[in-house]
Amino acid sequence: MMTLRPAPLTIVPLLCCLALSASGTTGHATLTKRGGTGNTDAPTQQRLTERPPEGNSPTVTAPSTSPSPDHRESPEITVVAAGDVLLHNALWAQATADAKAAGRSGYDFRPLFSEVESIISSADLAICHLETVVGPSGGPFSGYPRFVVPPQIIPALKQVGYDGCSTASNHSLDDGERGIRRTLTAMDAAGLAHSGTARSAAEAAHPTIVTVRGVRIALLSYTFSFNGLRLPSDQAWLANDLGADALLDEAKRARAAGAEIVIASVHWGVEYSQTASPAQTKLAKRFLASPNIDLVLGHHAHVVQPFERIGGKWVVYSMGNHVARQPQRETTQDGVIAKMTFRRVADRQWRTITAEGIPTRMDLFGVYDAGAMRLVSIPAVLSDRSISPYLRHVCNLSLDRTKAALTARGAASDGLIIRQSQTSR
Ligand SMILES: [Zn+2]
Repeated sequence: MMTLRPAPLTIVPLLCCLALSASGTTGHATLTKRGGTGNTDAPTQQRLTERPPEGNSPTVTAPSTSPSPDHRESPEITVVAAGDVLLHNALWAQATADAKAAGRSGYDFRPLFSEVESIISSADLAICHLETVVGPSGGPFSGYPRFVVPPQIIPALKQVGYDGCSTASNHSLDDGERGIRRTLTAMDAAGLAHSGTARSAAEAAHPTIVTVRGVRIALLSYTFSFNGLRLPSDQAWLANDLGADALLDEAKRARAAGAEIVIASVHWGVEYSQTASPAQTKLAKRFLASPNIDLVLGHHAHVVQPFERIGGKWVVYSMGNHVARQPQRETTQDGVIAKMTFRRVADRQWRTITAEGIPTRMDLFGVYDAGAMRLVSIPAVLSDRSISPYLRHVCNLSLDRTKAALTARGAASDGLIIRQSQTSR
């Protein structure tokens, strides 16, 4: 394992209402990350040693123009991303049971993800989508339709290997400003970067930029809806309302602030539809036509939608549910972890050289793990010769559905790799 010097994690949140001058302010924090290349199974470790700005005198940090030693040594970066982390009540109960099984009280969400942990932790950068806000550690909590979930999910996401999460969703305003404030404070405490919601105008005014092995990567997050709730007119900075111009403007400012790769997370689409809507395809074309955006990652539909390559870049319209409990439809139990490998092709320019989909499934009925609800990796389960014929059948059906959805817009001929077993690529 190579040891890297501490690299700056720059939290450079976005501007929604303010003009950023050439000498605009940039908050910063430091990320220490160790690990080999993106193809190793070595766990990713990182540590936030400074908090992102909350609005008080952010520090000016000039973007570096010369490649760092890490940069020269590591011309490839792997990014994994997943769909909705949507904690229905039954998943809290599972986390209570898992904590109890370990001799503890409270909630332990890590076992829910344990079967996919190696996929997440081995990436250079792992991004989740935290669809809901969290409550105080002792509650009260609430489920659908206005979610306030146990905050113990946040350290669990960090422990399984996530480096940051997008937070703009139709549930961002479910507990108002206090829900957003509580959630972002908990993410800071856990060392999880965040993008999409903010505690102040100043925090909202800068794109979130993380530094991964010496490479600055901007994380943008926008949502098309707040489920009928409105952003307060004097706090429009609380969450990023999806507007193409706002997203593109932020991408431009992120690039100007030193981002070499810009990833846009977009909460959009039609729930339970496995087809990308005309609105999604139109926006994806517009976003990827911008030289300032390298990848679009979608969620919200709760089912898997296609990957599509547009102009040499990729959009994943929906990665489906990551963890959720929606038993009414089989398709809401299917998900995909997107794994994208970027290669540096010129100074401060990166291209996606491989796009992979790793199918997952929420095993809601505990078939795989003795009655416990678990998120499982389809290729891992199908590579396990000891599984029952029933589970193999269920996973093969899930895999077939996911493959059909992911490739419906030509992704197979454009090079998408769908992992079907642990040895397949
Ligand atoms: Zn949603």
